[in-house]
Amino acid sequence: MVSEKCAYCGKKKGKRECPALGGKICSRCCGEHRGVNISCPPDCRYFQKHENFQQSKQAESYRETWVEKNEDILKDKDRNLIEAIGILETLIYYRYVEDTTLTDQQIIRGLQGLENQLKTIELPGSPSDFADFAHEELKPLIDKEKVSRSTLKQATSRLIPIAESFSDDSRRLVQGIVGRVKQDYDLPDDESGQPAENIESLITTPGDIQRR
Ligand SMILES: [Zn+2]
Repeated sequence: MVSEKCAYCGKKKGKRECPALGGKICSRCCGEHRGVNISCPPDCRYFQKHENFQQSKQAESYRETWVEKNEDILKDKDRNLIEAIGILETLIYYRYVEDTTLTDQQIIRGLQGLENQLKTIELPGSPSDFADFAHEELKPLIDKEKVSRSTLKQATSRLIPIAESFSDDSRRLVQGIVGRVKQDYDLPDDESGQPAENIESLITTPGDIQRR
């Protein structure tokens, strides 16, 4: 068998099958670039193993930060607001399922864009993919009065400082939120459903969202 060079650096010997590059990758490039510069499909076993580990690890610290920053609404049992924050986190999770290269910066910029969009009835164009995605998914929920625009705006304003303080400027926030959503929220196993429908089913099961 001819030895194959790494499809990323072209220097070392490629040992792992990389479905994103369609060739072999060396373990160093895989470790350094997966999910960051390489758009890994969620079913790649190297990506999965690493991500799952990071997600469960970061979920714990994220939950601690979350509780610290939301002590007041937990104490007041402000269910609507707690739920609205959960809706935003779930949207981040679905965005990640679509694009595993999602970064902390994209989330933070997206939340800022969304906060602006929620301030007005008219929808100004937003420079952020995540804000556009989130707004599109939230619209039917707002229209059906499952959640109010002002509660979502409040939830967004709360989540931004949490996101900023938790982020390491790479992917810590993505991993923490995705891990938390996987562990704490009862999302339907069927991933073929639309995020908005799945989120709606989440709203109708009160109690789960506060589990921690
Ligand atoms: Zn390499």
